[in-house]
Amino acid sequence: MLADIRSQTADELEAQFRAWGQPAYRVAQLLEWLYVHRAANWETMSNLPKALRDDLRSRYSLSALVLIRKLGARDTTQKFLWRLTDHSLIESVLIPASPALYGEASDRHTLCVSTQVGCAYGCKFCASGLAGWKRNLSVEEIVGQALAVERWNQDQSEVQCPKSKVQSQEAGAESQEPESGVRNQASRIPRHGSPDPQPSTFSSQARLVSNLVIMGMGEPLANYDHLLKALKILNAPWGGGIGARKITISTSGLVPQIRRLADEPIQFRLAISLHGATDTIRNQIMPINRKYPLRELTAACEYYQQKRGRMITLEYVLIAGVNDGLDQIKPLAAIARRLKAKVNLIPYNRVEGLPWERPSEASQEAFLKALEKQKANATLRREKGGDIDAACGQLRLRTERVLAES
Ligand code: SAH
Ligand code: SF4
Repeated sequence: MLADIRSQTADELEAQFRAWGQPAYRVAQLLEWLYVHRAANWETMSNLPKALRDDLRSRYSLSALVLIRKLGARDTTQKFLWRLTDHSLIESVLIPASPALYGEASDRHTLCVSTQVGCAYGCKFCASGLAGWKRNLSVEEIVGQALAVERWNQDQSEVQCPKSKVQSQEAGAESQEPESGVRNQASRIPRHGSPDPQPSTFSSQARLVSNLVIMGMGEPLANYDHLLKALKILNAPWGGGIGARKITISTSGLVPQIRRLADEPIQFRLAISLHGATDTIRNQIMPINRKYPLRELTAACEYYQQKRGRMITLEYVLIAGVNDGLDQIKPLAAIARRLKAKVNLIPYNRVEGLPWERPSEASQEAFLKALEKQKANATLRREKGGDIDAACGQLRLRTERVLAES
């Protein structure tokens, strides 16, 4: 099977182009087609010589995700259901700007990305694991979610504003013209990702997604190598151009991988799906806790926090009568203080077929107040998108059920 072009870093492409005897500026031209124009086929790449395009076609695939459903209106939370080449379904959720839920405040959008088809970890309250685990996503399938959303947005603006289509075509035509201009641009391409790459290389004005949360379907750290390579591409100034501080990886608590992540050169933000502050509660709802109990998990988080010197977020989904008891407050506040972490309280989103409920607003508020009284830094998320099956895994599950019935 051919490697996909969107799974390749600039260094890898440069090595291949060198082997083909192609000058380095051709790599910059190719990257611009992939990550600025989000080209869907080789033919569009009109400033690359035909012989090079033929070489590329025989060496790499150029796949794209197929949008099969989208829920939610513009300016609200929108959910995308994608079909992959093997017909598996995955989801991404686009969340409009809200004040600094994860990372820094943004005037643009956060994209919630999936990393696996299904999930093997079987948390009792979660829709993603209900149909089990099917496979890891490839690098290009992770990168492709961000690109496909950008492409969808670009197509939308062109439909809504035909004038901008003309302008963008003109811009495309311009970039096809002088090779010298592109060559200059190639020499300006920063080589490595950074916490906040400057959008100077390519115009990022048209970009919609400014933040990523790796919180869609699947356990990201169980697909470690593909995830890290995809994030390297999405972070790189020649690729997605999204700063590492604007990328948050969420895990249910894979201890060895949390330690490994702490030792990586690129510093991503980390969110831990805690959902219980004692082993008794956590064992009831998250099977992973039997393998890596709280003592080991908090030690790994402490290592991450000390090594990275940065704040961890503790996700705590409030489920009525399960983990919303005030007995959780003291141990939860103690973990948060020790890890210098922020607690993000999330009211549970109902999942069809599961018995769990979200607590009343009054109990949610009481839980928050009690935590604050224990000097924990905490926020209560007012869920966006609960009404469109935005909780992870739900849209896919429902669609697969409908497809199976039809
Ligand atoms: N597997 C990773 C990332 C995906 S889940 C993890 O568990 O962290 C993303 C977040 O959504 C997790 O915190 C998860 O516990 C939470 N979640 C799952 N089902 C939910 C539901 N029905 N309502 C609210 N949050 C949910
Ligand atoms: Fe998997 Fe995360 Fe859902 Fe648990 S909460 S089943 S780890 S996706």
